Amino acid sequence: MVERILQVTDLSVHYGAIKAVQQVNFVVNRGEIVTLIGANGAGKSTILRGISGLEKPVAGQMMFNNQDLNGLSSESRVQQGIVQVPEGRHVFPGMSVLENLRLGAYTMHDKQQFSKTLAHVFDLFPILAERKTQDAATLSGGEQQMLAIGRALMAQPQMILLDEPSMGLAPLFIQKIFDIIQQIRESGVTVLVIEQNAHQALTIADRGYVLESGQIIATGTGAELLASSQVRAAYLGG
Ligand code: ATP
Repeated sequence: MVERILQVTDLSVHYGAIKAVQQVNFVVNRGEIVTLIGANGAGKSTILRGISGLEKPVAGQMMFNNQDLNGLSSESRVQQGIVQVPEGRHVFPGMSVLENLRLGAYTMHDKQQFSKTLAHVFDLFPILAERKTQDAATLSGGEQQMLAIGRALMAQPQMILLDEPSMGLAPLFIQKIFDIIQQIRESGVTVLVIEQNAHQALTIADRGYVLESGQIIATGTGAELLASSQVRAAYLGG
């Protein structure tokens, strides 16, 4: 049975006079990979920031597990099960890989649960286990992205929000990140991912939404959007 985990209704987010997101409607079902695609400045990051509570909408409603997110701080949303991996990795330099991961689990006080979650993250990212005592700043770009995702998973999210996870990575790492997104979903975590790399995102996504100038202009399954001539012309290089 399809179970709705997130329902966004008539969401509008402005930056002063800039109407970055205008009356956007979409849903994410539990266990899905959903992608938002669109050109630079279309409003993708702003939508994620609205969901995670980093930006305050001017209008609209966001229901997570049938609970209204309005008025909840970012921290409370993390506790409700929504964790965002921001664009650009943002690992903490001067701290080891393990310390970075520990920060993701700062609300977890059960040692056994911590060890189990850490083992799961090391399973997904064996390189992080190998480098656990190393300063996070010494990791490659791709490894830092893995650490940022691993840190988010340490909070045991129900839904993870990924902002351009493949940005700036070498082709080998890009493929790896998309493989990992699928493994994250298989482990039971719902994924909402925004990507410039529309082709690969739509290939792994169950469904997608196309954003243009702050509005959703098309939606469908990943396969439908990949086959759409409108989407191909605008976002997939014809
Ligand atoms: P990108 O891939 O470039 O991040 P995006 O689709 O994620 O694009 P947003 O970053 O959400 O788009 O930006 C949507 C619009 O809001 C753009 O016009 C952008 O210039 C503007 N914008 C984003 N952040 C801010 C901000 N902090 N202050 C003012 N305007 C902003």
